[in-house]
Amino acid sequence: MILVYVETAGGQATEVSLEAVTFARSLAAAGGGIPVDAVVVGPMGDAVPKELAEHGVRTVLHADSPKLATFSGAAAASAVLAARAQQKAVVLMAGGTNRGNEVMARVATRLDAAMAANVVAFSSLSPFTVTRQVVGGAAMEELVLPKRPAVFTVAGHAVEATPAEGAGSGDVVALPLQLTDDDLAVRAVSVEPVDTKAAGSLKSARVVVGAGRGAGGPEGFGDVVELAELLGGQLGVSRVVTSLGWRPHHEQVGQTGSRIAPELYVPCGISGAIQHWAGCASSKTIVAINTDPDAPMMTKATYSVVGDMHEVVPAIVQEIRARRG
Ligand SMILES: Cc1cc2nc3c(=O)[nH]c(=O)nc-3n(C[C@H](O)[C@H](O)[C@H](O)COP(=O)(O)OP(=O)(O)OC[C@H]3O[C@@H](n4cnc5c(N)ncnc54)[C@H](O)[C@@H]3O)c2cc1C
Repeated sequence: MILVYVETAGGQATEVSLEAVTFARSLAAAGGGIPVDAVVVGPMGDAVPKELAEHGVRTVLHADSPKLATFSGAAAASAVLAARAQQKAVVLMAGGTNRGNEVMARVATRLDAAMAANVVAFSSLSPFTVTRQVVGGAAMEELVLPKRPAVFTVAGHAVEATPAEGAGSGDVVALPLQLTDDDLAVRAVSVEPVDTKAAGSLKSARVVVGAGRGAGGPEGFGDVVELAELLGGQLGVSRVVTSLGWRPHHEQVGQTGSRIAPELYVPCGISGAIQHWAGCASSKTIVAINTDPDAPMMTKATYSVVGDMHEVVPAIVQEIRARRG
């Protein structure tokens, strides 16, 4: 059996968890029809078992207790291990979110097994071989996980969440759990909602000024933010920028970020990797600023400015201010 740790939010399974379930289904099919079960920890909305059944889940193991009202990585790992013992799982997996990665890392440690984070594909069941993205998606790595159960997480958007052709039953079975003090030593005490409105406004912005690794660090965004404001637009960034923690994820443009279609896109210090291009190709006019005239973004752009963004962008800002008086 393949066991997927499923996260929920707002009474629904998260998109990344449904992607992990979809990935699990392809593994199950390659293994000759192994069942896919899910484990849910803490409060679970009424819609979750139905959603999981539609995505092919056979049994939903539900660990619930007032002590699990907020997230604890150790408690969630205990639930995954309890479910694994009960259902004899050969693969343990989750979506590659911060929480999914934490829970599976704890599970692997307690099993003395290896864990592969951010897997995008598998190529063989025997030996169990997966491909995962590393260095913020800049490189791929092939890994063999020799031990059973294999433990890994699936990178967000590595697959599209799709319903199964033959739905699972999605039966809910209570998972008894003896929680220890260690399980609850580190736990979330409050949850602040993320700014989803900001991502929404990026998707619908008429002007987007982009910035990538060329910004040079978290302090290198002042000029591009100013330009975006002057043009009545939004800031969009590359994945390197969000992976390095320079800017928040909701500002990311690309395959694993927002897909934008502005009248004007001004990518500064962004090379134009295929995954970034996937999110900005629908821009009407692209004015790229880059020190490398051969960067893919420069060759695809409507207009290309060869130069240092830290010189070109302030010059544009100054010119706009001068013309506006
Ligand atoms: C599964 C997967 C999903 C991905 N999803 C996304 C995604 O959604 N969005 C995304 O962006 N990436 C995504 N990536 C990552 C993508 O492959 C690239 O690694 C990333 O887009 C590169 O970011 P960058 O252009 O900022 O950095 P780099 O590729 O390092 O390019 C930096 C550019 O800045 C230029 N530069 C340097 N200094 C200056 C300066 N002072 N002034 C002007 N130019 C300068 C350089 O010439 C270079 O062209 C994904 C990768 C994978 C594997």
